[in-house]
Amino acid sequence: MTSMPKKVLIVGGGTAGWMTAIHMQDVWGKKGVDICLIESPDIGIVGVGEGTTPLLREFYARLDIPESEWMPPCNATYKCGISFPDWSTVKGHETYFHPFFSDLDKAHIQHFWDNCNLRRSGHDVPAHPDDYFVTTALARQQRSPIPKHRPASESMYGYHFDAGLMGEFLKGKATQRGVTLIQDTITDVKIDRHGDIAYVKTEQNGKLKADLFVDCSGFKGLLIREAMGETAASTKDFMFNDSAVAIPTPIKDQDKVMSETISKAMKYGWVWHIPLSNRIGNGYVYSSDYINEEQAEAELREYLGPDSDGAKALHLHWSPGRLENHWKNNCVAIGLSQGFLEPLEALMINIIQSSIEGFTECFERGDFTNRHQQEFNDRVNRFIDGILDYLQLHYKLNSRDDTDYWRDNRDNPNMSPQLATVLSAWDNNESIDRVLFENINQQLYPRTSWYCMLAGMGRFPEPTKGPLRLPVRNQKRAREASKEQAEQFYSHAEYLQKLYNT
Ligand SMILES: Cc1cc2nc3c(=O)[nH]c(=O)nc-3n(C[C@H](O)[C@H](O)[C@H](O)COP(=O)(O)OP(=O)(O)OC[C@H]3O[C@@H](n4cnc5c(N)ncnc54)[C@H](O)[C@@H]3O)c2cc1C
Repeated sequence: MTSMPKKVLIVGGGTAGWMTAIHMQDVWGKKGVDICLIESPDIGIVGVGEGTTPLLREFYARLDIPESEWMPPCNATYKCGISFPDWSTVKGHETYFHPFFSDLDKAHIQHFWDNCNLRRSGHDVPAHPDDYFVTTALARQQRSPIPKHRPASESMYGYHFDAGLMGEFLKGKATQRGVTLIQDTITDVKIDRHGDIAYVKTEQNGKLKADLFVDCSGFKGLLIREAMGETAASTKDFMFNDSAVAIPTPIKDQDKVMSETISKAMKYGWVWHIPLSNRIGNGYVYSSDYINEEQAEAELREYLGPDSDGAKALHLHWSPGRLENHWKNNCVAIGLSQGFLEPLEALMINIIQSSIEGFTECFERGDFTNRHQQEFNDRVNRFIDGILDYLQLHYKLNSRDDTDYWRDNRDNPNMSPQLATVLSAWDNNESIDRVLFENINQQLYPRTSWYCMLAGMGRFPEPTKGPLRLPVRNQKRAREASKEQAEQFYSHAEYLQKLYNT
């Protein structure tokens, strides 16, 4: 026996709303559930959110929408991982790449772990992650993650895309597949005596009722926060960023398209560069405790140079944190209404997808006792808290000394006990694999990601023991093999052209 609502009203037509709508239509629409989405013609979407993790591939695959269909209308490109220049000042570690690893890396990954652990114990062996992964070599060579010939195993990859166009694409698909769209603005939310949402009142369409409401209304959380009174736990003590300014720039050379996001450290935060097929998306993420909008925009424009002249800046602010209860009574929050930490590592769309897929699965089990809701809420919170640990580690590991912002981040005593344990175990040459296994929820980031960041930022003691021949040879072999493997893949520009012409 599975359980399903009769009617669902999704409030909000941003990325979260349309991803929810098409997913629910896919799993419940064919079973007779009425899926309806309301978006306001007067209230825009947040309009940023252009990078993803590999999970989005599964989303489109499940919906049976091939890349050739969705990528061109969204000006999408491929993403092999993220570069982190200038977070560290350690010699040889001024930049590192966080790759999307896969079975293609199987032959060398053990050497990477081993070399890191030798380096932690004081041996002078090469342990920079950039030598060991195929997607790193792909990004360095500006290649797509698509091989010219079918390989034994696939590479992992994510995407970059225009958030506005992706919303439009999903809207077209979802309505084609049966989702009802209402364009109207909600003016009031009525809560009944059980604490459920009875209906929402709109400007044009009167009262709209449903069995289940999904709050995809963005930062304000029109239903879950404003009407139901849920509050978010702040994460500002852990990570200070609460603002961003975004300015696009043109692509200079159409024959060279990056297949990576660049997340470059600046004076009071970091800048993203996201290559789309028609422009580069850039944004400076900073903390308003250290600089204001004007200073951030000026620093970004100076850094981008004449390319940014005339381009309009979009300023954004948020209160970093997450809800405790994402599902309450007959309302579930998906997207920015759930909370937002910050854009580092481009995870929100991943959280949206995991939340909505987890929710429909949980809902179908029926029996909406508090236990079921609690289970869902706990799962989402564990997921987000694991992300918080991983994101905060970037700031804890920084070795910059140019501003208070970086020193304060490094010296910040507020971190989860789990993160503190991992950092201490790494520094004290304890068994890091065991400590990661016991302390860190590795749902999203497995140990290789932790190794990549810790080693990539050069978190090692000064070597006290000489180099060892075999680890040095292994590193050279890994670098050459990754480079050679990467040459079997299409250049990014060439493959995009092929895909866009399909
Ligand atoms: C600076 C920044 C960078 C980011 N970068 C990334 C990234 O690289 N990768 C990533 O995964 N995520 C990123 N994100 C997060 C990403 O932007 C969001 O996850 C995503 O866009 C989802 O937004 P949303 O749909 O929840 O809200 P919104 O886009 O804000 O949509 C809200 C919707 O609610 C509707 N609405 C509001 N009030 C009413 C009302 N009264 N009546 C009717 N409708 C209403 C609006 O009309 C709109 O349709 C970033 C966020 C920020 C702030």
